[in-house]
Amino acid sequence: RNQEFVLFYQPVIDLRSRRLSGAEALIRWRHPTRGLVPPDSFIPLAEKTGLVVEISLLMLDTACAQLQTWQTQGLDYTLSLNVSGRQIPDGLSPATLHEVVSRYGITPDKLALEITEGVMLRDIDKSLAWVNAVHALGFRVYLDDFGTGYSSLSYLKMFPVDTLKVDKSFVKDMKDDGNEFTLVGAIIAMGRSLGLDIVAEGVELESHLLALQRMGCHYAQGYYFSPPVPAQEFEAVAARVTTLLAPPAP
Ligand code: C2E
Ligand code: CA
Ligand code: CA
Repeated sequence: RNQEFVLFYQPVIDLRSRRLSGAEALIRWRHPTRGLVPPDSFIPLAEKTGLVVEISLLMLDTACAQLQTWQTQGLDYTLSLNVSGRQIPDGLSPATLHEVVSRYGITPDKLALEITEGVMLRDIDKSLAWVNAVHALGFRVYLDDFGTGYSSLSYLKMFPVDTLKVDKSFVKDMKDDGNEFTLVGAIIAMGRSLGLDIVAEGVELESHLLALQRMGCHYAQGYYFSPPVPAQEFEAVAARVTTLLAPPAP
């Protein structure tokens, strides 16, 4: 009601074209006295009380308005939103999703929905029906935090997931010859063999970026490029990322 919830945007880089492909939208609470409150401090409570449904609908509107702004600026970005278990299947119905993107003149393929394995497995039948329905409408579905849960291949095959997000805990700790390096390489190889796109999150160092490129990872996201930033700073960040990715002058 007080409009204290805002979205921050963290750039996602396409490693093949070396260009910015879009962003992940991450919620923040601009509290009048506490300052900027991170999601881990209030999303679990919002999930418990059910308020997460209402908050997320507000954020869906904000995200679509941002996509519309980018579109009018000629920027063909994709935006991904985090979906919690409480929203599936009725809190964020396929019909609502469709109605909201249409209202903003956005095609569903510009919006990705990030869900974790834990969310999918809460009620397999309901979540399978939901994922199938949103996928059929043209929305992208990303499997978030991959590697931290069951990392089940049979569920991966069952759900029409487009993209795997390798959990940041493995990526940020990658050092040559370490276990994390082997794990990330294996997840990328497995995902690719299933025909999935791979996003690595938690890319903090140039060495991570170079390793991921060698491993055939498609997209990267992390502090090496930029932390999540408010919308008004995104353009400046985009320009910096583009320079960072430009091949060195001959
Ligand atoms: P997540 O979906 O795994 O989001 C990635 C988190 O990693 C973000 O934390 C991001 O700031 C952080 N991060 C990004 N790059 C790096 C890096 O290079 N290194 C490290 N160590 N961390 C990095 P954030 O924004 O605090 O969000 C935390 C979690 O809160 C998210 O994890 C997500 O599960 C949840 N969340 C955020 N926004 C929403 C939302 O709108 N709805 C729902 N349901 N959950 C949200
Ligand atoms: Ca996420
Ligand atoms: Ca994640």
